[in-house]
Amino acid sequence: ERARLARLRHTPAVTLDGERVELHANIELPADALAAVEAGATGVGLFRSEFLFMNRGGELPSEEEQFEAYKAAVEAMRGMPVTIRTVDVGADKPLDRLSASELRHEHVLNPAMGLRAIRWSLAEPSMFRQQLRAIYRASAFGKLRLLIPMVAHLNEIRQIQEAIKRVQQQLTDAGQAYTPVELGVMIEIPAAAVMLPLLLRHVDFVSIGTNDLIQYTLAIDRADESVAHLYDPWHPAVLQLIASSIAQARAAGKSVSVCGEMAGDAAFTDLLLAMGLRNFSMHPSQIPSVKQRILRADSSRLAMALPAVLASEDPEKAAELVLVSAQRTH
Ligand code: PEP
Ligand code: MG
Repeated sequence: ERARLARLRHTPAVTLDGERVELHANIELPADALAAVEAGATGVGLFRSEFLFMNRGGELPSEEEQFEAYKAAVEAMRGMPVTIRTVDVGADKPLDRLSASELRHEHVLNPAMGLRAIRWSLAEPSMFRQQLRAIYRASAFGKLRLLIPMVAHLNEIRQIQEAIKRVQQQLTDAGQAYTPVELGVMIEIPAAAVMLPLLLRHVDFVSIGTNDLIQYTLAIDRADESVAHLYDPWHPAVLQLIASSIAQARAAGKSVSVCGEMAGDAAFTDLLLAMGLRNFSMHPSQIPSVKQRILRADSSRLAMALPAVLASEDPEKAAELVLVSAQRTH
């Protein structure tokens, strides 16, 4: 079994009909990059940088500390791309020490809809620029990509681009090296999925965060046990938003990945391939099982079966019937 997994690690993820699939890793700390490489990841699709900011009792990480962490991750990946997501604090990922602005929002009713992720970063501009500087400085040591969580407004992208310009100027003035960094946004608020063609004009890539996309599409708090039975990745509305996002990004010639839990669940691999997804990002431990699915898949047959699944009142059952038989007749 060990030998089989080791062989699998070096096997490229290619479908039976020759479609190459990137399997990237989700990591929380730079040390996780090792597990990513060992699992055969071809990049980091999601570095959840908020874990550098959490569970530390007091101070937030300095620019220097962040720079060292991003540099360590990108060096560990040896030339493979590393996608750093700017802090996604708030809601299910609170900071220990409440900053001044958080104190103002201490008792918000719906933290998942409150001042979190990019909203928090834009409300704390010096903190945001500090993180951007650390990321841009680390870009001199490998292939970095910048990913922004919870984007829902075009105006947020404009503010992000202004902050990037200012940071680049600061680095240039200080004689600090950096390379161009691709800018991407998470598709995890339904508004972003619905207006994707507009967003795509302003970004280099997108990554679909199914965990939050399900939460906001179905109005189900992902942390609330009492409605956990209604949190349904197979819901037709969720599948349609994912399918149309993948199709629109591909039509615009922009790279698109899925980095939520669905990407690492082998039960969804055929479906996501059928939708045209060629870039999955997941916990390193999930890479072997998803890769095995891909090696046995015929993506063009799956794509032909997709409309029947999307039109079904019970997509889970339809996927079982239609996608499985699409494979079997091969
Ligand atoms: C998501 O929402 O699917 C996602 C990948 O981000 P997180 O789970 O960190 O909110
Ligand atoms: Mg999310």
